[in-house]
Amino acid sequence: DPRIARISSAIRVIPNFPKPGIMFQDITTLLLDTRAFRDTVDLFVERYRGKDISVVAGIEARGFIFGPPIALAIRAKFVPMRKPKKLPGEVISEEYSLEYGTDKMEMHVGAVQAGERVLVIDDLIATGGTLCAAIKLIERVGAHVVECACVIELPELKGRDRLAEKPLFVLVNAA
Ligand code: 5GP
Repeated sequence: DPRIARISSAIRVIPNFPKPGIMFQDITTLLLDTRAFRDTVDLFVERYRGKDISVVAGIEARGFIFGPPIALAIRAKFVPMRKPKKLPGEVISEEYSLEYGTDKMEMHVGAVQAGERVLVIDDLIATGGTLCAAIKLIERVGAHVVECACVIELPELKGRDRLAEKPLFVLVNAA
C-alpha cells in the first residue's frame, strides 16, 4: 500500500530519548502531516469496519490519539485504558512489569461488557507488556479481544510473542 511509505517517513526518530541508547519513535510529526495522519486512521478503519467491533480500547497516552477517530468511524465506543489513579469511577487494574519495576493499567468497571468484541489500540509495541496488560483487563470482564493494532512495531523485541494467540496488526516496522 503506497500510504505506508508516507506514514513511515512522517515518523521522526529521536536518539537518546528518554534515556541514552533509546531510539524514540516520535509520532507527533505524523500528526503534523495531515495526509499521513488521515491515511493512518483510514488504514485501520478499512481493516476493522464491518467486523462487529463494539469497543475500541485506547492505551494511555498515544492510544488516545489514534483510537477515537477509529472508534467514531466504525461506530464503536471508545474506552480509555489509563495509568493508575486517573479514572474517577470504580476500576479494575492489572499490574505489569517494566524494564525497572512495575506499572499498572486501569479500566472503568462497566465500560466494557461481557461478550463485547474489542479492538485494542496503541501507537507502538516494544516488549508487548503494555498490550498484554490491556488484553488481560478486557478478558477479565468476559469480553473478547478481536485484535491489537499499533502504528509501529519494534520487531527485535519480540513483543508479538507475548500476546499469546491474539493477532497483532501493525502499519510500520522500526529498528
Ligand atoms: P511495551 O510495553 O510494548 O514494552 O511498550 C509499549 C508502550 O511504551 C506503548 O504504550 C508506547 O506508547 C510506549 N513506547 C515505548 N517506546 C516507544 C517509542 O519509541 N515511541 C513511542 N511513541 N512510544 C513508545
